[in-house]
Amino acid sequence: MSESAPVLLHNEHYPTSTSVDAFRHRIALVQQRIDQACLRNGRASGDVRLLVVSKTFGTDRIRLAYQAGCRLLGENKVQEAERKYEELHEELPDLQWSVIGHLQSNKAKSVARFAAEFQALDKLKTAETLDRRLQIEGRSLDVFVQVNTSGEASKFGLPPEEVHDFVRALPQFSALRVKGFMTLALMDADPERVRPCFVLLRQLRDQIRNDIGHAQDMCELSMGMSGDYEIAIEEGATVVRVGQAIFGARSTPNNYYWPEAQLETP
Ligand SMILES: *Cc1c(COP(=O)(O)O)cnc(C)c1O
Repeated sequence: MSESAPVLLHNEHYPTSTSVDAFRHRIALVQQRIDQACLRNGRASGDVRLLVVSKTFGTDRIRLAYQAGCRLLGENKVQEAERKYEELHEELPDLQWSVIGHLQSNKAKSVARFAAEFQALDKLKTAETLDRRLQIEGRSLDVFVQVNTSGEASKFGLPPEEVHDFVRALPQFSALRVKGFMTLALMDADPERVRPCFVLLRQLRDQIRNDIGHAQDMCELSMGMSGDYEIAIEEGATVVRVGQAIFGARSTPNNYYWPEAQLETP
């Protein structure tokens, strides 16, 4: 099967995948780079999970990604994820969703119903609502604590100095299986400005596992995207979240996902 020409021209690094073969090819390329980054750093390639991010892309393209082997897809916005879940869950019952963006507590009910994973926990109120809804559904959920490692006001996530206390409060929410930590690095072309964000998350994980008895199982580090996942792997990532390098360039600007101002009042 031949690939059609990329539709979006403003970002030539990320050609648009419009066939199952194109998805297979791009996934294999990213996986190869993951494996090589692991090798270079003395890690087993199975240490790092590739989470393919499908935000902004329609269900027609998602079906192609599914045929190419994707069974868990990342989405930043709850409403968008839920709409895709509703459209696809009967047709593709084994396709699961990981919510990787900020969750307002009034949307926790929805996440408790359809999500397989939630990577952006940063408020106790959200943890509480999520836990209550999960108990009602009779489910539990894998969660990651999101940390703001870049210090930018526009990013969600807990300030690093608040993470210890936050983690100490989590065992009361028995439906949450707390797997580890997630972060978004600085958006910068210079890897040496990006790397410190990943280092900070790894150090924080190590300290917390050392300091807090119940945090022993919080091993996971979800960090790295299309532009920086190899650096993240060098610094210990166990999950990388990759969208554009597999689906193709997005036309939606990043500040739609990481707004300038926090939308929610505390
Ligand atoms: C969109 C997004 C990604 C993936 O970004 P790409 O540039 O498409 O690889 C990763 N993490 C989060 C939280 C996102 O919203």
